[in-house]
Amino acid sequence: MLLNTLSTVEKKLNEIDFLDINKIDVFLDTFKHYKKDNIVYPGVFIRNLGISSTAVYRILYELSNIGILEINYEIFCEECNHFRGIIYRSIASIPDDLICDNCNKEITILDYVVVFRMLVDV
Ligand SMILES: [Zn+2]
Repeated sequence: MLLNTLSTVEKKLNEIDFLDINKIDVFLDTFKHYKKDNIVYPGVFIRNLGISSTAVYRILYELSNIGILEINYEIFCEECNHFRGIIYRSIASIPDDLICDNCNKEITILDYVVVFRMLVDV
């Protein structure tokens, strides 16, 4: 990741003030390993930072607002807790005839979880 991207992220983290200095360092240390078009799973940050999923999502949404991340969608079957592993870049692009390949349940376009895509070049 470019140094100035990382400093933009650091500036934003300071501005929104959800994390103390130590956790900002941990966040940046985790974040710098991603490359453009990598999918960022909030769970990684929840584990590494030891903070709530709400706080992590709020931070990642903030980084989406400034064009560093893009909000993406991954289909998740609530029936069998199975991810399909396909990432959609918009809700509109999710097909309306999906079947869970694990339990054959019909999946609706509301069966998704939000993940994030890195938009910046390394
Ligand atoms: Zn299923």
